[in-house]
Amino acid sequence: MSRILIVEDEEELSLSLKEWLEGELYAVSTVNEGKAALEMLLSNRYDLIILDWMLPGLSGLEICKVFRESGGDTPILILTARNTISAKEEGLNSGADDYLTKPFNLRELSARVRALLRRPQSAPQSILKAGNIVLDRNSRTVSKDGAPVKLLPKEFILLEVLILNRGKVLSSDELTNLVWGVDSDITPDTVRSHIRSLRKKVDNSSNFSVVKTVHSMGYKVESD
Ligand code: CA
Repeated sequence: MSRILIVEDEEELSLSLKEWLEGELYAVSTVNEGKAALEMLLSNRYDLIILDWMLPGLSGLEICKVFRESGGDTPILILTARNTISAKEEGLNSGADDYLTKPFNLRELSARVRALLRRPQSAPQSILKAGNIVLDRNSRTVSKDGAPVKLLPKEFILLEVLILNRGKVLSSDELTNLVWGVDSDITPDTVRSHIRSLRKKVDNSSNFSVVKTVHSMGYKVESD
């Protein structure tokens, strides 16, 4: 059974979408606020996300952007009352797969949902590598030269996010949003100390690190 998350703050609409999609035998969860929605997306697996554009907390586009940057590849259908060409482009540029303008017919929604669920998922990248480090996203394990490395949950996510964004410098702020969440009050010191403890576990020597510091900009894992 496909799992669908509906992110919509209009209670009546959210409820009617949920009832309609449950009638079509999907497993449906709902959330009505942006930050909570992002948390759910980052900690659960869905097959499809129906995402309203205008939301309290974080906008649909912001959610979409952060979710994609964190490696999320679940299809996203954006709902919005805005139907201008530039709004549509903005939606698709932020990483959405399709776009439906309110008000819409529920049969139209069903057709879009089926099309998105049929779309072959990009090969799930479950194994990530950086040098002699292998990170398995399914089993949530890391190994170095084949030997298991024990990471704390935040260290794991930190390494995962850096490898998924390999070649790109991520600032302390970006890492804070991606690893701890947008409403956390983590300081750059905390990010630094996690990077330090991560390095202790994954590096072979203090002269070479998988996680590079880019002076006054942030951190990155080198692209191969
Ligand atoms: Ca709304």
